Amino acid sequence: MRKPFVAGNWKMNTCADEAVALARAIADAAPKEGVDLAVCPPFVYLRSVAKALDGAWVALGAQNMYFEPAGAFTGDISGAMLKDVGCRYVILGHSERRHVFGESDELVGKKVIAALAAGLDPILCVGELIEEREAGKTMEVVERQVRAGLAGVGADGIGRITIAYEPVWAIGTGKTATPAQAQEVHAAIRALLATMYNETAAAAMRIQYGGSVKPQNAKELFSQTDIDGGLIGGASLKAESFIAIAEAAL
Ligand code: PEP
Repeated sequence: MRKPFVAGNWKMNTCADEAVALARAIADAAPKEGVDLAVCPPFVYLRSVAKALDGAWVALGAQNMYFEPAGAFTGDISGAMLKDVGCRYVILGHSERRHVFGESDELVGKKVIAALAAGLDPILCVGELIEEREAGKTMEVVERQVRAGLAGVGADGIGRITIAYEPVWAIGTGKTATPAQAQEVHAAIRALLATMYNETAAAAMRIQYGGSVKPQNAKELFSQTDIDGGLIGGASLKAESFIAIAEAAL
């Protein structure tokens, strides 16, 4: 039985005071068992959010990192730095990184390996554009992203990875994949993982759904066989809605 995992991706939102207040409100009221929780604030608030979460069961995650351990990479952040400020998770290959910042499948794969080496648990995001779905290429795209994202991840590392299936057309748009559409892709990803690793590893892996998850639609999405919680954007910026979504995963 997989424990659901709900993570909040705050993206480029909040100010210092809001970040701390949001983290505290979530830590105070979120369910304490039955679901793993994480919040992923902007880099500059990681330290203060880590302090606000101190002693709470809500884990800290970052939204991105670079694959090199250190050096002349102006403006970027290493896995070791994230670990140093208390991160457990790091989101990699988010659609905004892929489509706004032009990150390639290969780059995402390098980041996954570097994150594992730094002791972080990656949340690897995959998902198709609307034109890819309409052209019947959803699984082709998702399979390519999963294979490239996990290239070089062996049997020892796979258990530390969460996959987030996030159809790009559903992110921040208010359009959610239907539970059946999401389940179909989640099941296909799990079948792919079984061929890449083995049945046991695939059955144990958590695959989150992301894309306009709200308190109103979370329960139906999370009740699908292969959906193990969610990666939440907009609705993670209010403690009340994030907590309601976390409760829907119980
Ligand atoms: C996301 O950023 O990963 C996301 C799913 O955003 P939203 O919930 O706002 O669609």
